Amino acid sequence: MLRAEILSVGTELLMGQIANTNAQYISKRLPEVGVGVYYHSVVGDNPARLTDSLQLALSRADVVLTTGGLGPTQDDLTKETISNALHLEMKLHQDSADAIAHYFHRSGREMAESNLRQAYFPENSLIMDNDEGTAPGCIIRLQHDCGEKIIILLPGPPKELIPMFNRHVLPFFAKMQDAPLYSRFLRIIGVGESMVEQKLMCLVDGQTNPTLATYAKDGVVTIRVTAHEEGNIPAELLVSDTCSKICDILGNSVYASEDEDIEVTVHRLLKERGLTFACAESCTGGMLATRMTAIPGASDVFVCGLVTYQESSKVVLSGVRDETLQQFGAVSYETALEMVLGCKQISKADVAVSITGYAGPACGDEPVGRVYIGVSAPGVQTVREFSFSGNRDRIRNLSVIHALDLVRKAILHL
Ligand code: ATP
Repeated sequence: MLRAEILSVGTELLMGQIANTNAQYISKRLPEVGVGVYYHSVVGDNPARLTDSLQLALSRADVVLTTGGLGPTQDDLTKETISNALHLEMKLHQDSADAIAHYFHRSGREMAESNLRQAYFPENSLIMDNDEGTAPGCIIRLQHDCGEKIIILLPGPPKELIPMFNRHVLPFFAKMQDAPLYSRFLRIIGVGESMVEQKLMCLVDGQTNPTLATYAKDGVVTIRVTAHEEGNIPAELLVSDTCSKICDILGNSVYASEDEDIEVTVHRLLKERGLTFACAESCTGGMLATRMTAIPGASDVFVCGLVTYQESSKVVLSGVRDETLQQFGAVSYETALEMVLGCKQISKADVAVSITGYAGPACGDEPVGRVYIGVSAPGVQTVREFSFSGNRDRIRNLSVIHALDLVRKAILHL
């Protein structure tokens, strides 16, 4: 496996003004094409320190990816500094010069002389055009004192870096593989990352093809399964065989076999079955409705979302009875049930979900994190109690994720 270092250039990063999301993105994607990230480093816009950092990176990695400092201004010095450090001459790349001129012409702006700096590259570079901005990137391959090296220069703005990385860098490494790699993602709700790893230990131990990597974010665990062809067994077959084993072990907590958000899965299932959907939310204040309506074509399935925050609105809008609130409270099994039934009746949707809970922070002796989620779907009527931990944001987010997952299970009758 090639060893990579990401060298991010930018004083703003050192000052903590921006987070290094570029390094995070690159690190997440490179293993898919057989490149392991061994180091991250950050350096300010300073030629001497950038030269030092580059030499250090070249002494310990096969691939160095720099981010930032490709723009037209005086402090954008990555390309020039790297050329100097490697004793490479800067040469004009005519196609890039034309593309930059065209970019300015198209956007009706006058081009400053300094913009042409962006069309000069270290000799023998492979140029990566930038469809989202003016600074192209480049790939340099050279024989260095410490062996053969690949140096990849990428722009700083994520909206430029990500498409360039996906369009040029990933295919560049994919082509270098003797046996092409193939990856699939499984997504899981309801089982924590450590438990997932523990349950899959039998598949991970001593296993090099396929390899499994897990990561958790916002209540969802993602497993990446990557394989390369072995003998005459195609990588796809090795991956799908392992994915089936994982699904057998983790059962219905696997909600998707691709890198897909839970609301997209729910939207797809509703649409496939011709079902409509509505929600009544209390502690999540419309977050579930926001996620559902962020999907293009949401109106095919989404009828309405009620935000019934104060008790009176639970009565007026979602038909909860006064007596229920008095006897059991707004955060209770009974209220969640009446909310979901009322929501379903009022909206006439086929499937409805309700959420009521304590998102905190504590201001009495209520159990922060206690959340009731009700679901009503053809043949299914259920209320589940959850005890989430964490701060207000986390509790609200977990409530939405789990509500959508319960909806998924109800649609599938799991
Ligand atoms: P430009 O042409 O915009 O000058 P550039 O390639 O020179 O692009 P920088 O000037 O280093 O890039 O950074 C431009 C902007 O990109 C920064 O202000 C910041 O918003 C964003 N950025 C830079 N580096 C990173 C990073 N590592 N992670 C996330 N965002 C970044």
